[in-house]
Amino acid sequence: MAAYTFTDHTFDVIVVGAGGAGLRATLGMAEQGLKTGCITKVFPTRSHTVAAQGGIAASLGNMGPDNWQWHLYDTVKGSDWLGDTDAMEYLVREAPKAVYELEHYGVPFSRTELGKIYQRPFGGHTTEFGEGPPVQRTCAAADRTGHAILHTLYGQSLKNNAQFFIEYFAIDLIMTDDGEVQGVLAWKLDDGTLHRFNAKMTVLATGGYGRTYFSATSAHTCTGDGGGMVARQGLPLQDMEFVQFHPTGIYGSGCLITEGARGEGGYLTNSEGERFMERYAPSYKDLASRDVVSRCMTIEIREGRGVGPQKDHIYLNLNHLPPEALSERLPGISESAKIFAGVDVTKAPIPVLPTVHYNMGGIPTSYWGEALQPTHDNPDRILPGLMAVGEAGCASVHGANRLGSNSLIDLVVFGRAAAIRAGKIVERDTPNRPLNQSSVDAAVERFDRLRHADGNIPTADLRLELQRTMQADAAVFRTDKTLAEGVEKVTAVADKMADVKVTDRSMIWNSDLMETLELTNLMPNALATIVSAEARKESRGAHAQEDWPNRDDVEWRKHTLAVVHPDNTVTLSYRPVHLDPLTPFEKGGIDLKKIAPKARVY
Ligand SMILES: Cc1cc2nc3c(=O)[nH]c(=O)nc-3n(C[C@H](O)[C@H](O)[C@H](O)COP(=O)(O)OP(=O)(O)OC[C@H]3O[C@@H](n4cnc5c(N)ncnc54)[C@H](O)[C@@H]3O)c2cc1C
Repeated sequence: MAAYTFTDHTFDVIVVGAGGAGLRATLGMAEQGLKTGCITKVFPTRSHTVAAQGGIAASLGNMGPDNWQWHLYDTVKGSDWLGDTDAMEYLVREAPKAVYELEHYGVPFSRTELGKIYQRPFGGHTTEFGEGPPVQRTCAAADRTGHAILHTLYGQSLKNNAQFFIEYFAIDLIMTDDGEVQGVLAWKLDDGTLHRFNAKMTVLATGGYGRTYFSATSAHTCTGDGGGMVARQGLPLQDMEFVQFHPTGIYGSGCLITEGARGEGGYLTNSEGERFMERYAPSYKDLASRDVVSRCMTIEIREGRGVGPQKDHIYLNLNHLPPEALSERLPGISESAKIFAGVDVTKAPIPVLPTVHYNMGGIPTSYWGEALQPTHDNPDRILPGLMAVGEAGCASVHGANRLGSNSLIDLVVFGRAAAIRAGKIVERDTPNRPLNQSSVDAAVERFDRLRHADGNIPTADLRLELQRTMQADAAVFRTDKTLAEGVEKVTAVADKMADVKVTDRSMIWNSDLMETLELTNLMPNALATIVSAEARKESRGAHAQEDWPNRDDVEWRKHTLAVVHPDNTVTLSYRPVHLDPLTPFEKGGIDLKKIAPKARVY
């Protein structure tokens, strides 16, 4: 092994990731007076959060009546009764506070005529516990909401003296022999140095793993690095079978057209010009929840009513809307449609297709963001020293399917919660424990092995094989057969990692090596996804299993835990869904009868 030297850093808290979740956590930790560092592989404002368009959900009631109970009902139903009730209650009750806080930090929200924060309708968000019309709950800064939030939070983090380590790639967690997380080993991309970060609390905010699929709306950087790091320590990933397909990725490029487009009045049509969603979801039509709309589109295409020469996609119509509304409320997607589909949205429909968009599963946490390492006797055991927030984590508020605009709110509510919790439990005055050098050595050995990997398969080829397999076998619709084949194929692809070839051996700006490290993270995420999916013999939320078409609350209302082993086998276990609310009904909490399981129709 080559000899490496290290630069050392000591913090109270180290946050890995500078997307919406990482920045909100970083800012909050710094505000708590904790010495906080934030590591990010891309410049903070290039994190995938920047691409979020449609908005952030909170029951402000600026555009008509709304309240947290209705938001809770919609989130529970959206999750197809797999979310944890306490976490979902925390999310929707804290949401208005978190949005006003963003407003005060400086997020330039769009405004109503009265000067209040503008809110638009979004799929699955309703009034009267699903009995009333759609609600306008999604707070928006035109169709560039994530961009506005990310820039504001970065500025605020700097103001609070958080220290940033930009274009540093976190390689692996460092753990003590008694199972506590102590920090991370990272590689500084522009000068090739290695850095040991020692922290009393490590927060993974590394985003999703959309890039395990061939066609995804997520950035190329969404490679599930946090999940990979956790899996390599033998720790579990939760509910990984639930992968959200967004109904409207632009056909061909996968670039997203926000659900806000349908919120503002857009609708889908098939080759017969029919508004087919009226048939499937008579009440909410094009604003049914995402898994439902994606399945209906897939059925239309399968039954021969797709549009285009191959009859393999669907049209999204916006051309009936006033051009002023399009340029004021949806300027970004008007531009994307022009660039990626050559379409002028004021004149023609946009060709769209369901595209991988969001990972409901991730690192299991409490609603304080503390990572869990469930044991047989304690399904809620807390893993000391580790937190996870944002798309990398699974609190679980999205259960089997996330509602649109419920992710941005999840980032800020749980980023903030993690900071509040860390403010209470991290001891500021005690010195950090010395790092466990054998854990560092293991990470460096892995890094060095990959750097000198001299097999036969280039990283890009292996990644493509993985992406194509996931796209085919862990798709919108799944069957016993496709999933069983998928498990075999994804395992075979993961096994080929032993034969990977890295061409560039240098330490400086070695994108070949960085992409290989990312591929070693995509693999365990993909394995956990396909194996968990194969085992779940029911249909729930985004997991549509054609051989098991019904939801089975007796057998399957439980969270999957997947541990991925070094030999690419996966062990599954399960933990109960939290059914108890945070606040009892007598003390102003939700009436549990209102959110009891029932059939999910829109
Ligand atoms: C196109 C698009 C539009 C969306 N629109 C909406 C919307 O309107 N409303 C909504 O609620 N949700 C939306 N979503 C979902 C939502 O935006 C994401 O779930 C959310 O932004 C994820 O934020 P995050 O902070 O968890 O991660 P990200 O924003 O993905 O950030 C991840 C961070 O981790 C860092 N990182 C990762 N790995 C490493 C490593 N190994 N070392 C160092 N740093 C690392 C990266 O540099 C980055 O800073 C959208 C998603 C997409 C893809």
